[in-house]
Amino acid sequence: MLAKLLMIPGPINFDHEVVRAMSKMTCSHIAPEFREIFGDTLKKLKEVFISEGQPFVIAGSGTLAMEMAATNVIQRGEKALVVNNGVFGDRFVDIFKAHGIDVDQIQTEWGKAADPAEIREKLESDDYKVITITHVDTSTGIANDLEAIGNVVKDFDTLYIVDAVCSLAGQRLYQDKYHVDVCLSGSQKALGVPPGLALLCFNQRALDAHAKLKQPVECFYTSVNNWLPIMQAYENNMPSYFATPAVNLIFALHESVNQILAEGMEVRFARHEKLAAMMRKGLTDMDFKLVPENGCAANTMSAVYHNGITDAEFRGQLSQEGVIVAGGLGRLKGKIFRVGHMGSINENDICATLGAIQRTLDLF
Ligand SMILES: *Cc1c(COP(=O)(O)O)cnc(C)c1O
Repeated sequence: MLAKLLMIPGPINFDHEVVRAMSKMTCSHIAPEFREIFGDTLKKLKEVFISEGQPFVIAGSGTLAMEMAATNVIQRGEKALVVNNGVFGDRFVDIFKAHGIDVDQIQTEWGKAADPAEIREKLESDDYKVITITHVDTSTGIANDLEAIGNVVKDFDTLYIVDAVCSLAGQRLYQDKYHVDVCLSGSQKALGVPPGLALLCFNQRALDAHAKLKQPVECFYTSVNNWLPIMQAYENNMPSYFATPAVNLIFALHESVNQILAEGMEVRFARHEKLAAMMRKGLTDMDFKLVPENGCAANTMSAVYHNGITDAEFRGQLSQEGVIVAGGLGRLKGKIFRVGHMGSINENDICATLGAIQRTLDLF
């Protein structure tokens, strides 16, 4: 059978060594060999977030990381501002509402990036405890300018929370340089690890905000209070327990982080930029129109409008040609398709994908 290329915005085709790392015999979560691997992973993750902050890795998906960020630095009676570019902005709104937190939004048109000047105006208009933004919005394929927005947010007391689920270790992101207080992600996208891990990095300002909350947090499994001593213990190679870590996924994360750092963050960012440009050129040469407008297209994935062929027919035939891409989300369902190009992919994968898309078009 033809081995298909999984070119969706996560999960992706994972590196064989990363997958193989998972098949090691599970050891105790407090065994010295596991403490060493988890501790080393946490230390190295600082180089992936490009931050001096405190990384957290817990079992769960990207959404759990969003919830952990949303429930540990803000509580009832305080206000959140969500910069909403698509489905994952809506999700942050829903998470805050579920926890009884007041939320305002800046909604951009789908396909457009957020405007830093508009964010400044909004932050001046009210007292926001946190602002959240999606780095790469996976429903539209846009990337927000985190650096420009960080330069606005730093003038306020507001904490800057970034959803980097579809960007960390792919799209250029320097947590500390961009003044990001909490950066969060999931394992199955550009980090290149099978689904099941939520990752976050809290800087000191965010940890202080957590410590200063007036009421106890309204969460238990995701409480920073519960996990901070555990992460610190692993970094110091000490046995500790709060809830069992996903041991085999941590093996895979360790392997992937080693690969990421061996490549080097700058080289990795540049590779994603180059491959994204190849993908966009190939798609627009075939007359597909990108969803993102005005050059705000992301480097980890692309979203384009269908032209003439229905979504089901197009993706069905493309799968026959050996490539799996994703359909649209929310209001773009049926109208667009989305291609992931992140992780350990190379030019051959891009060419294979574009070739399969051309063969599919030729059949209709
Ligand atoms: C995929 C994604 C999520 C959700 O992650 P899950 O692992 O599916 O829970 C959140 N935000 C963004 C930007 C994403 O791409």
